[in-house]
Amino acid sequence: RLGRRRAQAYVPGLAERLAERQHIVDDLHEALQTAGFTLAFQPVVQLSTGITTGYEALIRWNHPTRGWVPPALFIPIAEECGLIEDIGRWVIMDACRQLSGWSSHLHVAINVSAAQLKSEALVHHLTQAILVHGIAAERVEIEITETALIDDADRTAATIDRIRRIGVKVALDDFGTGQSSLSHLRDFKFDRIKIDRSFVVRAGFDPRSMAVLRGIVGVGKELGVLTHAEGVETRDQLDLLRMIGCDAVQGYLVGRPVTPGNEQIERFERVLQK
Ligand code: C2E
Ligand code: CA
Ligand code: CA
Repeated sequence: RLGRRRAQAYVPGLAERLAERQHIVDDLHEALQTAGFTLAFQPVVQLSTGITTGYEALIRWNHPTRGWVPPALFIPIAEECGLIEDIGRWVIMDACRQLSGWSSHLHVAINVSAAQLKSEALVHHLTQAILVHGIAAERVEIEITETALIDDADRTAATIDRIRRIGVKVALDDFGTGQSSLSHLRDFKFDRIKIDRSFVVRAGFDPRSMAVLRGIVGVGKELGVLTHAEGVETRDQLDLLRMIGCDAVQGYLVGRPVTPGNEQIERFERVLQK
C-alpha cells in the first residue's frame, strides 16, 4: 500500500520474468547477427497420390546455453519487440535459397506473422528472395493465421492480392481456431486452407467434429481452394481424410520436420505409396 487510495500490486516473479524476457530479446538480436537460426522442413503430401508436393519451413533456434527454444515461445516475443520483421526476412530468404536446390515440382511454405503482413516490406522481401535465388514465384507459398486478418481487413485484402499477383500462393493457417473463420473464406482469396490439428484429432471419435471437417472440405471444393489437414498422426486419421476427399496432409505420420541436406528432401517423396 502506497497510502491515499493508492496501492501497488506485487506480482511474484514479475521482475524476474521481465528480466528473462529482456535476455531473450538480446539473444534474438545476437542470433540474427550470428546465423543462430535454422529452418526445419516438414513434408506436405498429396493425399490421392502419396506424393510429396512441398515442405513447410519451420524456424529453429539453437540457443548457446538454453538449447532448442521452441518458436511458440520466441516468435511472440519477436513480434512484441519488433524483431519479427528481420527474422521473417531471414526466413523468406533462406527458405527460397534452399528451395532453389530442390527439384522443380516442390514448393515451400513460409509462415508469416501479423506484423509482417501489415508491413509494405513483405511483398518486397518476397520479390527480392525470388529474384536473388532465381525461382518460380508459384513455388512459394506464405501461410497466414486467421488472427492476422482481424484488423484493417481492407488493407490486408489488398496486401494478399498484391502477393498473389506476383505469383506467390497464400494459405490460411490454423483454420477454424480463430473467430469468424467462414467470413475469412468469403472476404479473402486463398489458395489453400490448412485445417487445424484440433479438427483432425477429434474427427476420429466425435461424429460432430467429423461432420464439421467434411463441411470444411466441401466449402474448399466449392471455392476451388485446396484443403490441407494439419497434424495427422495416425493411419485412421489419414484414411478418414482420404474418404472425405481432403487434398493434402501434413503431420508426424507422413514426416516430421527435418533440417536436411537436399538428398534427404528428395528421399521423402512417395512415402504413402502402398
Ligand atoms: P504452425 O505453423 O501451425 O506449424 C505446425 C506446428 O505443428 C509445428 O510446430 C510442427 O512441428 C507441429 N507439428 C507438425 N506435425 C505435427 C503432428 O503430427 N502433431 C503435432 N502435435 N504437432 C505437429 P513448431 O515447429 O514448434 O512451430 C510452432 C508454431 O510456431 C508454428 O505453428 C508457427 O505458428 C510458428 N512458426 C514456426 N516457424 C515460424 C516462422 O518461420 N515464422 C513465423 N512467423 N512463425 C513460425
Ligand atoms: Ca504454418
Ligand atoms: Ca498450423
